Parts: sequence; structure tokens; C-alpha cells
Amino acid sequence: MDKTQGTSPADFGADPLAAYRERIMYSLAVAAVVFLLPFSINSYVQGRPAVATGVLIGVLILAVDALAIYLKKSPPIPLIWLLVPTAASMAGALEAQRFFGVLWCYPEVLLFTFALSRRMAYWCTILLLLIISALVYYYIGEETVIRFSVTLALTIVLANMIRSILEDLHRRLIDQAIVDPLTGVFNRRHMERCLGDAIERQRRSSAPASLLLIDVDHFKRINDQFGHASGDSVLKGIVALVGKRSRKLDLLFRIGGEEFMLLLPDTREAAAAVVAEQLRASVEESPLLDGLRLTVSLGVSELRPGDSLDSWMKHADDALYAAKKAGRNRVVRGADVPAEGAADTP
Ligand code: GH3
Ligand code: MG
Ligand code: MG
Repeated sequence: MDKTQGTSPADFGADPLAAYRERIMYSLAVAAVVFLLPFSINSYVQGRPAVATGVLIGVLILAVDALAIYLKKSPPIPLIWLLVPTAASMAGALEAQRFFGVLWCYPEVLLFTFALSRRMAYWCTILLLLIISALVYYYIGEETVIRFSVTLALTIVLANMIRSILEDLHRRLIDQAIVDPLTGVFNRRHMERCLGDAIERQRRSSAPASLLLIDVDHFKRINDQFGHASGDSVLKGIVALVGKRSRKLDLLFRIGGEEFMLLLPDTREAAAAVVAEQLRASVEESPLLDGLRLTVSLGVSELRPGDSLDSWMKHADDALYAAKKAGRNRVVRGADVPAEGAADTP
């Protein structure tokens, strides 16, 4: 993975569960309501109104949040409040029934771990462990509290391990979907999304953006002369050079075999052309392959008002074509290319 870029593929997916959180919470809340409501009713019937009320409040919190999610609104009651009825009903249950009510802590750990952000889940599960352990100690005694707190702590650890594995898998999946495996930079699919974002930003706040289309000159000859593996290492070398020259917010994509695109946010065409010229010169000067002078041609294009993704790329493509036609190893700006200048290919 290319660490030289500011916004590298590795930066994606800081909280991968976020996209699924409401779905997870909805399922767990519905399950909890279905399973807990009969217990609440049973507690009333059995003459334990304190336990029944505690359970009912917990059920109401979950039901209100689940209903909000169902209606596509954000859940109004933070789940941390669940600790209050949990503690109250468990104290009642411990007093009347001994240990059994406390078993509800185990699914509650899963609810907290998977429905909350990592930080909140951490606090809620630790608080649950401390509060209920104290109650168990007070109502039942030392021997039981050791067994209870160790098994609950183990459940918390295991739930967090599963969560970490899920997050890691999710991150890898995202990486694979948007990263070019050979060079470690973003792929064409992700380019379309980023260019779309830049067009949207210009529409909203007139933020400029430019792109550089970079194509290795006579790359086929490198493959033919030195072999495909050498060609591959040249591509990686070029990516490293671009990474060194570009700024933190610039994004590099591999959009074809030996063709790359650098997206420069908040950059006008003249400034982008300066970056392009630096890149061209640095490739020319760098010994990427023994005994061969490697060069690149670059087309530069600033996003014009009303441009679509296709028209913006077409301007860069026309500029690149003009650079190839003019003899390669050069930079051409979109503004310098007449509109009808790209009828055929080099
Ligand atoms: P020009 O200066 O006009 O761009 O000429 P060129 O030879 O660079 O362009 P052309 O499009 O004719 O050839 C591109 C070559 O890139 C052909 C293909 O074999 C090679 N290629 C495409 N993908 C890869 C890859 O992943 N690794 C390697 N080593 N070569 C690749
Ligand atoms: Mg080429
Ligand atoms: Mg090409």
C-alpha cells in the first residue's frame, strides 16, 4: 500500500461498522423487546413490580429507538441510558430470585458492542460489568461474583475480538474494491467517485480542481525489451515518484495499464501545470530502469463550470494526446488545446 500519498487507501474505513450500526441495533432491539416483554409481564404476575418496571423501561428505550430506526430517523435515546433500568431490574431480581436475572447481561454486552461506537461500547460494557458485579457481590456473595465478573469480562473481550476482526475484514474489502493491487494506489472505480465529488464541490462552492493524466512513453518497448516484470517495477517506481512530488490532499489513481491520473483539489490549471512539469522532469532524471531513459507525457485539465466527469476527462485526454503528438516527454494544458484537436489516437 502506498504510504507516500496523503489520502492513501489505508485511510479508509475508520469506523466500518458505522454503516451497519442502525441495522444491527434495530435487529438486536427488536429481539430484546420480543424476548423481554414476556419477562416483564411475568414479573408483574409473580408480584415483583420493581423488576417488571425496570425491564419495561429497558424495553421501552429499545422499542423507541427501534421505531425511530424503522421510520428512518436517528434513535433518540442514547443506549447508555439502558444501564439505569438494567441496574434497577437486576437489583430487584437479585433480591427476589437470586442470580438468574443477571444472565441478561450477556446479550446486553453484544448489544452495546455492536450497536455503539467503539468508545461508547467500551464505556457501557465496563460500567455494566462494574455495576452488576457490585450488585451480585452485595446480594449474593464473593464466590458468585468472581464467576460472574470473569465470565462477563471474557464475553466483553470475545465480543471485542469479533468486532475487531469484522472491522479488519471490512477494511480489507474496501481496500480491495478501490485499490490497484500492483501499485497500491486507487483504481479507476474510485477515481470516478472522487472526480464526482470534486464536480459537486465546484457546483456548491466554486472550488477549483485540476487533473493530470500521466502516460508512460513507449512503455510497450520496455516490456518487450526488459520483460513484463521490469515493466511492473517501472510502474511502481513512477507511483513512488508521483507520491514524493504530490501534496497531502492530491489523489493518485491507476486508470489503465501505464496510465495514471493525479487529482489536484483546489488547484487551478496553471499551478497544476507546474506540478506536471516537476513530475515530468523528475521521471526523466530518475534511474527507473538501468540503461534506459524513461519519460512520461502529461495532459493537464482544470474543471470548467458545467463539466461532467466525461467532458473533464476528455479535456485531459485531448491534452495528453497533444503531448504525445508533439513528440512525448512534455506537458500540455487543456487550455492550449483547440476543442476539435483530438479526432484520432496516437
Ligand atoms: P505511447 O508512448 O504512445 O503511450 O506508447 P506505449 O507503448 O506506452 O502505449 P501502448 O498503449 O501502445 O502500450 C501500453 C503497454 O502497456 C501495452 C501493455 O503491454 C502494457 N501494459 C499494460 N498493463 C501492464 C501491466 O500491468 N504491467 C506491464 N508490465 N505492462 C502493462
Ligand atoms: Mg504509454
Ligand atoms: Mg497508454
